[in-house]
Amino acid sequence: NLPPIDDGFVIDFCFDGLPLYLNDSKQFWPILMKVFNIPNMPVMPVALFFGLSKPASVDQYLEDFVEEINELQKNGLMMHGRSYWVKIRCIIADTPARAYIKGVKSHNSVSGCLKCTITTKKSDHSSHRFYPYAAFSQPRDHNSFYNEQYPLHQKFLTALSRLYGLNMILDIIVSDRLHLIDEGVLGRLIFLWTSVFPGQKFRMSKLQLKIVSEHLLQIHLPSDFRRQLRSLNLSQDRKGIKLKSFLHSLYGPEFVNSNVHNLLHAYEEVFRFGELDTMSSVEYEEYLRNFRQMVLHSKRHSLAQSVQRFAELQRINISKRMHLSSTSGPASKSVGRYTECTIRPGLFLRDNFRDQWCMLHDGTVLRYESASIEGCELMIHGHRFTQQYPFFL
Ligand SMILES: [Zn+2]
Repeated sequence: NLPPIDDGFVIDFCFDGLPLYLNDSKQFWPILMKVFNIPNMPVMPVALFFGLSKPASVDQYLEDFVEEINELQKNGLMMHGRSYWVKIRCIIADTPARAYIKGVKSHNSVSGCLKCTITTKKSDHSSHRFYPYAAFSQPRDHNSFYNEQYPLHQKFLTALSRLYGLNMILDIIVSDRLHLIDEGVLGRLIFLWTSVFPGQKFRMSKLQLKIVSEHLLQIHLPSDFRRQLRSLNLSQDRKGIKLKSFLHSLYGPEFVNSNVHNLLHAYEEVFRFGELDTMSSVEYEEYLRNFRQMVLHSKRHSLAQSVQRFAELQRINISKRMHLSSTSGPASKSVGRYTECTIRPGLFLRDNFRDQWCMLHDGTVLRYESASIEGCELMIHGHRFTQQYPFFL
């Protein structure tokens, strides 16, 4: 019910598997989308598979989607008597889902990089393969992929390759910030810095751990961050088992797994698509978490029931968005004992310390105190720092 800003829609798609229970093979395989060129658009469902494994035939999973998007790209989308063009921007998926929809071998195979032809090496200490740093490689290209010229890498060509306008190499992104950087590389580094095992050269001392953890717990991130920081000790339990196989050669060549290697490709993707946050799976993951909660809550797990949950979630997201656009700002109001100032949808200042800080266009850091309407303009009152130093020096 919202007209696009341009004459058409630029769309991102997300493919993901979603297990229903931890020790059960029942799983959903949704296809989700987000309109990229309209601000604050919610994640929306496109299709849903439900079964005891991932769809046995990847083409069965993809075919209707490919056909429908091709139709829309060819003929446009009619809305209110007007035709709008439709264009795909990129596809976001985690590592196993990417390999599945592309019909390629796993990231842990000899030629596992989706973006270049690097040959991985066998680790002496585990079943994992590593990506030799600075080894010879060439960028993969769409035409060679389409003509199945990467036999070490490709298993078969899936229906995805028939999607108009999709570059099978460049448009299926690997630098999803959540999986690649936050959980992948950073999660692994934190584990290495905090774990105890023989020969560990980079471990933080107990005192350092305590100081850093206490500092992390004291930081109150602004309200729009959904999670607060945790102590470093907690991350150890969570990541421990998963990362055990890399203990032997810390920071040596074997440390470079596919996530670390993909940092080299993040640059190319930021160059093509813009900042990392626009390629993140965070909102899709949150959508799927909410969807899973609703399905579990309803206790009936048929596909038809689950589609109802999709519809409910859609209604919730649309009303949230309408609420957001009704507070489009700039405006100020009293919330409890605070004066809340909405700069634009999703960005507000409140004099409660955690939501009190902002940076102006000229780089000044401001501590917000209050706001007032003067004439037709919203005036923000606060204190600016007279001296600033770079934090990471
Ligand atoms: Zn590569």
